[in-house]
Amino acid sequence: MRLVRQNYVEGAKQANGWRGSGVRGGIAVLAVPALAVAVIVSGCAEGGAKGGSGESSGEVSREGSGGGSEEGSGVERRRPFHGQPGDRRSLVEPPARDLDAYAGKLRRSYAARVAAAKRWGLAEVPLTPPPPPERKPVLETREGFEVDGHVEDGLPPVFTTIPTRDKVVFLTIDDGAEKDPAFLRMMSELKIPYTAFLSDYLIKEDYGYFARMRDRGVVINNHTLNHRVMRALPYAAQKREICGMQDVIEERYGTRPTLFRPPYGSYDQNTLRAAKVCGIKAVPLWNEEVFADRWDYRETDRTLRPGDIVLSHFRGRDHWKGTMPDMIRRFLDLVTAEGYAVARLEDYL
Ligand SMILES: [Zn+2]
Repeated sequence: MRLVRQNYVEGAKQANGWRGSGVRGGIAVLAVPALAVAVIVSGCAEGGAKGGSGESSGEVSREGSGGGSEEGSGVERRRPFHGQPGDRRSLVEPPARDLDAYAGKLRRSYAARVAAAKRWGLAEVPLTPPPPPERKPVLETREGFEVDGHVEDGLPPVFTTIPTRDKVVFLTIDDGAEKDPAFLRMMSELKIPYTAFLSDYLIKEDYGYFARMRDRGVVINNHTLNHRVMRALPYAAQKREICGMQDVIEERYGTRPTLFRPPYGSYDQNTLRAAKVCGIKAVPLWNEEVFADRWDYRETDRTLRPGDIVLSHFRGRDHWKGTMPDMIRRFLDLVTAEGYAVARLEDYL
């Protein structure tokens, strides 16, 4: 948990998008507004001492920054107009306002996350992940998951966990049967990243739902056209299933995936050969699976590990005991309680 807390500071410095804050980051986040207030006060005090009227903050120019003593000299009695020589506001105020805007953004982001966590019935506010690693982890096939010629033929690595010390897990959601608008809203409001592995036979009844998901920043990846057991199929049929889905995703969503997950986690050498030919770079499986009412673990100690990939599905009450938001609650409550943040898989690849 301490690791994640440290990462908040980095996350707060970045202040990009949803890397704003979290419950355990409250201290780091609050420190920034305090700094901002100090700077703003000094800027305001200068203006006030000179009897400056309430200027419209949007007008200050960044030009004319040459000359002029530092603030606090107290010599000048009249304040020049904006943009004129000697207008020291251009030295002080823009950064103050930048910082103010930044601090305000953090406050609003944090408040929004707290409100969203409450609104969606989470036990705690989800933790914010650290910034993406500058050096990407080297992905290797998990022991026991290799096929003949795996390394020699340059076949895509098959793994269940991303090698990282960051206390993060990755959420992946498969198939595409359930198309619950509440799920999209929930994930956007909570700002939780996830990666989708879709099968055409399920998504073709409503491509638009997954286009809206993509518009919210979710990367769509390949889970074959028809969700067959790959290992039971000859090479040509496997290639049709994988390359065919690449074409569908490219046509419908504008990008050609680099990730492929075989249905049921079933694959053989032909699967990986076909995947490589179709442009696939990696084959992420999973180390845990979360349902609306329970977790399943690959490891016998039933414990999350840094970098674990978690599987779930687009399913609703027709398929399991609850809704997709129920599943996300079960997922996030455990992940957060164990001190993990949810990171974006693509950031580590
Ligand atoms: Zn599947």
